[in-house]
Amino acid sequence: MAGFKVLTAALLGSLIAGGALAQEHPEMTPEALARDKANFGPCLNNLWPAAQARGVTRATFERELRPIEPDMRIVEFMRSQPEFERPLWKYLDDLVSDSRIREGREQLKRHEALFRRIEQAYGVDRYSLTALWAVESNFGRAIGERSVVRSTATLACVGRRKEYFRGELVATLEILQQGHLSSKQMIGSWAGAFGPTQFMPSTFQPYAVDFDGDGRKDVVSSLADALASTANNLKLDGWQPGATWGYEVKVPAGFDYRQAASTNKLTIAQWEAMGIRRVGDKPFPRRQDVATLGLPMGAKGPAFLLLVNFQAFRKYNGSEAYAYALGHLADRIRGGGPFLTPWPRGLKMLSRLERREMQQLLANMGYDIGTVDGKIGGKTRDAVRAFQIKRGMLPDGYPSAEVLKRLRAG
Ligand code: CA
Repeated sequence: MAGFKVLTAALLGSLIAGGALAQEHPEMTPEALARDKANFGPCLNNLWPAAQARGVTRATFERELRPIEPDMRIVEFMRSQPEFERPLWKYLDDLVSDSRIREGREQLKRHEALFRRIEQAYGVDRYSLTALWAVESNFGRAIGERSVVRSTATLACVGRRKEYFRGELVATLEILQQGHLSSKQMIGSWAGAFGPTQFMPSTFQPYAVDFDGDGRKDVVSSLADALASTANNLKLDGWQPGATWGYEVKVPAGFDYRQAASTNKLTIAQWEAMGIRRVGDKPFPRRQDVATLGLPMGAKGPAFLLLVNFQAFRKYNGSEAYAYALGHLADRIRGGGPFLTPWPRGLKMLSRLERREMQQLLANMGYDIGTVDGKIGGKTRDAVRAFQIKRGMLPDGYPSAEVLKRLRAG
């Protein structure tokens, strides 16, 4: 009977998963990709009015785009997403290593004057900026190997994100037109991010600055321009000078986990009044700061009060895991210690398909989970929390195997 149950659950999962896979994006079928590839030249030509409107000359347009063939390999990168992601603790183990902390301190010493000037100009501290530089490109050593013009041109005309990448391609042409960078310099990831802090073409225009004063915003070869532009980006995205990203905290026994809703923003003093304490008996330095309670692994792992700057990290590059890695690496470079609460390393993680299934089941029940994408953000956690409340479970918002099991049971 147990065997039958397991089989049923597995079969149900694979049926739903099969359904999800069968609904391949219409722009990503082999036929659609072949059609896009055949239409590549005319597709690029259609972008001329948009490029012209941004000040790109016909000569630049022709010179940069005429020689390009689509890079079909990157369309495959877009399709393939690993089924199992690294759990958060593994991600942190990998990104916040002793050697990286050591190198972060060395780089800070080497570029001390530059970091001081950037702090004065933008209010973003040197530790956070160094951590971002480390995580984005391993201090400039892993900036990608593909032509940004070719990658964005390919994705503008082939596959499922054409509209987004049309904007990136036109932004790329604008950068080249203005002479800030050459197409030879614009080498980056398959998705078009380039330079030591992995700027996107579309974020260049609003955020990039010429910090070394040579007249060019060179976020590739000038470390001053790259780091200052990134600091400017964080600043314009709401960075709060003098504040940190968050604190590891202890949640008291009997705590009302409904308070961990992603929308529940309280001052640190208010959290303290509910019994939340900083680990290691340290006081909170700024009790008027506003924070949300972050429980990346639910009630079983470390807990955090997350401040405005955590959200600024997330705006720079999406995931929660990224923001935790940046914040923690910054703290460690500054001289702080590891997190004190152990991660629940034995906890079973849901696979991407299982997370999608969970999101779909929650959406079917009327919960707002945002997009069914297998990514766990505030909305999914809040929906899980609402479901847990309804079922009398501890409402920690963690997308556990138990939650999925109960959702499947209906
Ligand atoms: Ca410059």
